[in-house]
Amino acid sequence: MAALNLSRLIAAAADTIAAHAEALTALDQAIGDGDHGLNMKRGFEAVRGEAEAFSAKPLPEALKAIGTKLVMTVGGASGPLFGTLFMALGKEISAAPDRANLTLAFGKAIEAVAARGKSQVGQKTMLDVLQPVHDALLQGKAAAEIADIADAAAEATVPMKALRGRASFLGDRSIGHMDAGARSTALLVRTVAETVGE
Ligand code: ADP
Ligand code: MG
Ligand code: MG
Repeated sequence: MAALNLSRLIAAAADTIAAHAEALTALDQAIGDGDHGLNMKRGFEAVRGEAEAFSAKPLPEALKAIGTKLVMTVGGASGPLFGTLFMALGKEISAAPDRANLTLAFGKAIEAVAARGKSQVGQKTMLDVLQPVHDALLQGKAAAEIADIADAAAEATVPMKALRGRASFLGDRSIGHMDAGARSTALLVRTVAETVGE
């Protein structure tokens, strides 16, 4: 992997979320309460606001601090879950991760999200993107391919029935819409893939 420029990555992630905030909110309006775009934008702008301080830290501490910030600012169900993802990633990752360490840390972070959300793959949540991305990392797929896999995985939540989160209240009526958290996860995966590359 190329050397990580964390401040560049934070700016790119905040830009992506800001650019897609309305679209994410629209997805959440269909089968949730219509705040996902706003939630994510608030959180990632807060992270952007402290990008300099975060970037000065070693990567594990930076990721833990970003996770804590996301928990405090995103809110909703997704805040604690994305926060957990970053905090757990920070706990497991090394200061200069290679692909093997990143893959291992990402796997542990997904387990932490699933434990926190009492959720698993197939329930129409962010996990339905995170897991295929982990599989692709394990298979040694290239960054560009992983970004496409994440998009396809978000797309694949459309025919699913939601079994976790607000969308689950709709039962069968949740079928036919993309999960907002799956979409935001895919956007973040593409941003990381395009910023960090191989
Ligand atoms: P809220 O539903 O509280 O308004 P958001 O709209 O910000 O929160 O986030 C909703 C997203 O969070 C969903 O689209 C889904 O991807 C994710 N989510 C919700 N509950 C869970 C859970 N138990 N496990 C995993 N992901 C979840
Ligand atoms: Mg919502
Ligand atoms: Mg909400």
